[in-house]
Amino acid sequence: MKKVGPTRGLGVRYGSTVRKRYVKVITELKKPHRCPQCGFTRVKRESVGIWKCSKCEYTFAGGAYTPVTKLGVVAKRAAKGAPVEETTKAVEAVESATDEETE
Ligand SMILES: [Zn+2]
Repeated sequence: MKKVGPTRGLGVRYGSTVRKRYVKVITELKKPHRCPQCGFTRVKRESVGIWKCSKCEYTFAGGAYTPVTKLGVVAKRAAKGAPVEETTKAVEAVESATDEETE
């Protein structure tokens, strides 16, 4: 099956994976996150990159959509001089760990 039309050529980039990721991001955005200060799952997004715990009012900067960015993990690993392949694996590990995390 071959798709033609305005989206032709963008199909690979903006296909179901991106949609799935978008859904995941929105889900992450809406669900409460664990507070690094008090440990309660009461952290909500104040604004882009700003997260606030409604339990202890601890406010901290984080990712735009999740308190902890995968990019941070990559940056840490990159700083240690890990090869790109290793870094990619690390990100995948983080992503699969996030998938399994249910509350
Ligand atoms: Zn807290």
